[in-house]
Amino acid sequence: MNMTDQSRRVLLVAVPEGLPKESDFLIEDMVVPECPLDGLLVKTRYLSVDPYLRGRIAGKKTYVDPIPLGNVMESGCVGEVVASRNGDYRVGEIVAGLWGWQDYVGVEVGKVQRVDPAEAPVSTALGILGMPGMTAYFGFTELCSPKSGETVVVSGAAGAVGSAVGQIAKILGCHVIGVAGTAEKVAYLKSLGFDGALNYRTDKPYGERLAALCPNGIDCYFDNVGGEMTDTVLGLMNSRGRVSVCGQIASYNDRSEDVGPRPFTDILVKQLRVEGFIVSRWGERFPEGRKQMAAWFKAGLLKYEETVYKGLESAPRAFIGLFAGENTGKALVEL
Ligand code: NAP
Repeated sequence: MNMTDQSRRVLLVAVPEGLPKESDFLIEDMVVPECPLDGLLVKTRYLSVDPYLRGRIAGKKTYVDPIPLGNVMESGCVGEVVASRNGDYRVGEIVAGLWGWQDYVGVEVGKVQRVDPAEAPVSTALGILGMPGMTAYFGFTELCSPKSGETVVVSGAAGAVGSAVGQIAKILGCHVIGVAGTAEKVAYLKSLGFDGALNYRTDKPYGERLAALCPNGIDCYFDNVGGEMTDTVLGLMNSRGRVSVCGQIASYNDRSEDVGPRPFTDILVKQLRVEGFIVSRWGERFPEGRKQMAAWFKAGLLKYEETVYKGLESAPRAFIGLFAGENTGKALVEL
């Protein structure tokens, strides 16, 4: 690293009202941090933009602490060690962890994991081999208990989590239908091996379209979006179906209460099992999940797509783009 290198960071400067705006964030110059005693100085290569960050900038506590106004935005990142004061790490190694949206960061070694560039491209530590991959693997297999031959519907299917869920369901022998927001995404899902896909913006009424794509009804629903799509899917579930409630992105920017049909009659009469989760619940099992996902990736059974934005300054736009469906696969910023 040269002493002339500049660092920048992205601050949260306003609590967004509804859909976040670029003016809710500020790019600021900073001095390159010192390498911490016994720690590492890391140059960020990729940062992840994720829908859950909307909850972290809502100005109130959810299941994760809010990012206070004036603080640096943070999320999963991958970077290269440029200075080390720890005997276990060498300059040039790649690490992943949760840190600020900044060019350079000082980190404690206990807060990062080593990334092996020989196993897969390092950006996958934020995608199929990282938090979204673990969300897909555990959230689907543990809560949907899929069996070969069953019908699985995935909403938000062309995104980071959804595209992995659909492929895992295919590996397990299920009939898989994805729901996404553009014709290109529908074509992408079919190229991944999904048995069918629906564009929720144009293929209306959803109920008839979904029923045609799922002639044996729906046994498992992996819900990334909530809202009207979920109301519709619940009406088509088979008796003793399972619903994994992963995300509700359709309402993340709502300022009013989301009041829809009450699904409890379907849950009752069809004896559905509906369970929400936060992926950290399986934190201790992540090595097992990573091993399985890496094995499927190496065997060519699991593919991934990335939508990569260039430069730290594009991070706010990349984040906002999640809510317009700009991304196919994992949305990342490359620094
Ligand atoms: P993603 O799917 O890669 O990106 C978000 C996608 O959501 C967009 O590309 C867009 O695709 C869709 N979307 C945006 N606004 C929508 C709306 N109003 N209605 C329907 N679809 C909308 O993001 P991800 O990281 O994989 O996360 C997917 C979901 O899983 C999110 O809800 C997230 O919060 C959740 N999640 C939960 C956990 C957990 O622990 N429970 C962990 C990770 C992620 P279209 O073009 O198809 O609209």
